[in-house]
Amino acid sequence: MDYKTFYQRSIDDPQGFWAEQARLIDWQQPPQTICDYSRPPFARWFVGGTTNLCHNAVDRHLAERADQNALIHVSTETGTERAYSFRELHTEVQRMAAVLQSLGVRQGDRVLIYMPMIPEAVFAMLACTRLGAIHSVVFGGFASVSLASRIDDAQPCVVVSADAGSRSGKVVPYKPLLDEAIRLATHKPERVLMVNRGLAPMDTVAGRDADYASLREQHLEAQVPCIWVNADHPSYTLYTSGTTGKPKGVQRDTGGYAVALAASMKHIFCGNPGETYFSTSDIGWVVGHSYIVYGPLIAGMATILYEGLPVRPDAGIWWQLVEKYKVTVMFSAPTAVRVLKKHDAAFLKKYDLSSLRALFLAGEPLDEPTAQWIADSLGKPIIDNYWQTETGWPILTIANGVEKKPSKFGSPGVPMYGYRVKLLHEGTGEELTGPHQKGVLAIEGPLPPGCMQTVWRDDERFVKTYWSAVPNRQVYSTFDWAIRDEDGYYFILGRTDDVINVAGHRLGTREIEESISSHPKVAEVAVVGVADNLKGQVAMAFAVLKDPSEAASEAQALQLEGEIMKVVDQQLGAVARPARVRFVTALPKTRSGKLLRRAIQAVCEHRDPGDLTTIEDPAALQQIQAIVSAPT
Ligand code: ATP
Ligand code: MG
Repeated sequence: MDYKTFYQRSIDDPQGFWAEQARLIDWQQPPQTICDYSRPPFARWFVGGTTNLCHNAVDRHLAERADQNALIHVSTETGTERAYSFRELHTEVQRMAAVLQSLGVRQGDRVLIYMPMIPEAVFAMLACTRLGAIHSVVFGGFASVSLASRIDDAQPCVVVSADAGSRSGKVVPYKPLLDEAIRLATHKPERVLMVNRGLAPMDTVAGRDADYASLREQHLEAQVPCIWVNADHPSYTLYTSGTTGKPKGVQRDTGGYAVALAASMKHIFCGNPGETYFSTSDIGWVVGHSYIVYGPLIAGMATILYEGLPVRPDAGIWWQLVEKYKVTVMFSAPTAVRVLKKHDAAFLKKYDLSSLRALFLAGEPLDEPTAQWIADSLGKPIIDNYWQTETGWPILTIANGVEKKPSKFGSPGVPMYGYRVKLLHEGTGEELTGPHQKGVLAIEGPLPPGCMQTVWRDDERFVKTYWSAVPNRQVYSTFDWAIRDEDGYYFILGRTDDVINVAGHRLGTREIEESISSHPKVAEVAVVGVADNLKGQVAMAFAVLKDPSEAASEAQALQLEGEIMKVVDQQLGAVARPARVRFVTALPKTRSGKLLRRAIQAVCEHRDPGDLTTIEDPAALQQIQAIVSAPT
């Protein structure tokens, strides 16, 4: 079928379309109503249906592929590697479920999972959904304050954690961070379940802390059946990355999510049962939830859980795993590709990658030079996909499982089935239908299956934040700014708060960044709009050079700054030229690798940078602070 017809059907006949997709998963009771949208913007999908995520990810594969790989754990941090078949995964998940039950976990209870990338983290997620408990995974190694605010929001009865994570060979003890977070939090979890990896010594709080290995021993033969839950029973809550402010607690359902993932595995990722999927994300992010844990397993694929860096022991490690496990589908982020780009492309050519069909990238804009580099180095299709924690699966990409369509570099692609994507005028809410008009990327309700149900415990914030941002319309705002070309491909220009208004011209920070990063000496760049008395706003650029010594002296730096400005002049026009291009050795990012432009902007405007709980490297922001406050 051609994609256009497929898409149009999902819009014109959502009931028929999604009823068909719903058959991709197992139901205990089939749904009676496909979509109930009687209380917009709250959509209820597959009403009357009962199902279970864990059943669909694990149990239902036992009949046909019990002995095939399900979970492959590789840690280059601890030098461990172990594959679990579906049968073994089933056993381990039941043991974990029995342990959680013994600690008092019941349907509807929250369990907070603060874990490194180890198999027990996946067992715990699956055990929760098995029991109908709601998991809330918090990125391992987040500081105590971030963790405490998430404990208070989720109000878990149990926290599952481990003694330590490891990064670049350095042990990062988690237990002291967790203890401190519980001390800071108002809500006190009753029990803490600790997986002891033997990496760091731990203090134990008597009566509260339990040791996983000992409890597991008591439940080796555990048989814990899946609890069938209503399709709209919450499966988990997860926080957004905190790029633009205080993270929002996204609440996801069960049935809609399972159907959405199963459909995306078929139509977008084209993964087949018995094959191996490798997503390099972390279980603390939405990509980890959808495409390390649930999506591949629902599709009957083996999934790789990788703990470590992309460049340790060397930049060939990921590709070595692709060869070894015959990975067919891979998923990563532009930020990781930029890390690889600093190393020899020969590492990507060293291994037999013949099994690999495509590399999917998401999370941030994929600039053309980076896309070109990875496409040339791998010789495989590179498929950009655009979505959000809120949506759970891609909004814009190419659905090669429906119809093979060419990608365009710089564009994540076209709207995915089910999403009524609109470009709207920010000031009037008017729909922009012509090509190359800049507008807010919005989605008309109901959001398709798999998308957020609401903000956890805060329906009002859901409506206020997401559905009231565009004037004169009740639409879901992505808070991203985009254009569409004459072929219907979208281009993301940046966040709506990242639009710069220079003397009346509206410019996306992304456009300027893309232009600057086409300069061969630039590795990475961040552009922000800074208040200016004369022009309203001016663009300020902070660039990381491939070779920092190129801007070692002031004269060199000035010369390079001039060269870069010339590039922007040529590509976008003088109006887009940044007021200054300054050189730094690192850019402030979230733990998931997203540029913290709002923090850079605040520092440039001498304001308080706000919520920095998800920042990866505070020193990077301090560098910018030092530049900004130095007398010029
Ligand atoms: P917060 O909402 O807390 O500010 P966040 O928006 O970074 O954080 P995520 O849900 O992890 O949290 O990220 C989604 C955002 O990432 C999108 O809204 C978009 O800005 C950006 N993004 C994701 N994928 C792409 C892509 N392929 N191209 C361009 N931008 C992307
Ligand atoms: Mg967001």
